[in-house]
Amino acid sequence: MMKRENSEALYKEALEHIVGGVNSPSRSFKAVGGGAPVFMKRARGAHFWDEDDNRYIDYLAAYGPIITGHAHPHITKAISEAAANGVLYGTSTALEIKLAKMLKEAIPSLDKVRFVNSGTEAVMTTIRVARAYTGRNKIIKFAGCYHGHSDLVLVAAGSGPSTLGIPDSAGITTNIASEVITVPFNDLDALRQALERWSDDVAAVMVEPIVGNFGMVMPQPGYLEGLCSMARANGSLVIYDEVITAFRFHYGSAQTYAGLDNHDAIQPDLTALGKIMGGGLPIGAYGGSKQIMEQVAPLGPAYQAGTMAGNPASISSGIACLEVLQGEGVYEEMERLAVRLTDGIQSSADRYGVPLTINRIRGAFSTHFCNHPITNYAQAQDTDGEAFASFFRHMLDRGVHLAPSKYEAWFLTTAHTDEDVDATLEAADDSFRAMSQ
Ligand code: PLP
Repeated sequence: MMKRENSEALYKEALEHIVGGVNSPSRSFKAVGGGAPVFMKRARGAHFWDEDDNRYIDYLAAYGPIITGHAHPHITKAISEAAANGVLYGTSTALEIKLAKMLKEAIPSLDKVRFVNSGTEAVMTTIRVARAYTGRNKIIKFAGCYHGHSDLVLVAAGSGPSTLGIPDSAGITTNIASEVITVPFNDLDALRQALERWSDDVAAVMVEPIVGNFGMVMPQPGYLEGLCSMARANGSLVIYDEVITAFRFHYGSAQTYAGLDNHDAIQPDLTALGKIMGGGLPIGAYGGSKQIMEQVAPLGPAYQAGTMAGNPASISSGIACLEVLQGEGVYEEMERLAVRLTDGIQSSADRYGVPLTINRIRGAFSTHFCNHPITNYAQAQDTDGEAFASFFRHMLDRGVHLAPSKYEAWFLTTAHTDEDVDATLEAADDSFRAMSQ
């Protein structure tokens, strides 16, 4: 057993001062049996080291942003230079234009962008802009898709497409929840019914075009085309939340990813971005067509602002990260390692009779303890959370750090190597063996 006495002591101390001991609930180990989360003190490449000097192979990648591995020299240099030049001016900079142009080149549906500080802000503002543009109020979203913690998107499904949402968190009024309709992903009939029921009230349909929040889930063939055409026929905008997916599978976003056909038919009106595009510093961005984006202040009536928005440190870090991702073959290499990993994990699980379904999209994948496919949230819920918790703990004790939730993905980075994959496969084999005994 790996000793984590210092993490345990720090957790006790953190509980005295920080609510729940963590600064984001997803970091707590509540979903994997509780106890002290691991306190890290240093990270480099694909590894991090905890306060007890244990080393872990990292598949959390900070919930996605760290796609080039930790402390990548090119990004570190960009951040250091930005720090030396002053981290925040409250004025415009040439750097912001550079990153805006890089985003536009990679994601052609963006005529105009605006930088914010998080994915939450980006999503929240796309909704405001869609409402301003359409003059309508309601939003349709999809069960199990997380869009940050702003009020409107923290609303759970009602019991059917014509039922309004119920607040998913205390502090969200039923009035707000009544502006949201939640339908299952990959089910065009449910969406059709919701659009028919709420027709002129629907400002936008908000979706992760490739889901990253109940595992990695592809839209079924024709699904996004159907979604876009139905929304448009209804006069509603399509908002893609690409906070996880942008720059994840290729140098671009899901709306331009070769794994999805018919790109012309699946272009959104507005896109929310975050995570990778900041290279690990706080960032978000949203954008869309000129006409829609001109709703935003100072040009239009939809207000959105930010003291820290476009700060030179985050922007420099984002530019540097995208420059690394422009390198030859980086996505192919992440995919090659992910294929080795998923093949090996699946065959170990099969060998020890542990039911396991893996969804992989290039260098990202999710492990679901079940025997059925995962195409929507209900199927992802219907998996063995205790088996996942046991696997998580066995892996942690063998120096492999996964996200502490059965719904979260594993992310490969450009820093992972065959050696990391070999060590992970050995740990997985040991873990499944222990679980089967
Ligand atoms: N949208 C998606 C798809 C996300 O996965 C997340 C965060 O995990 C967010 C939005 C919110 O981003 P942030 O945590 O930067 O506010």
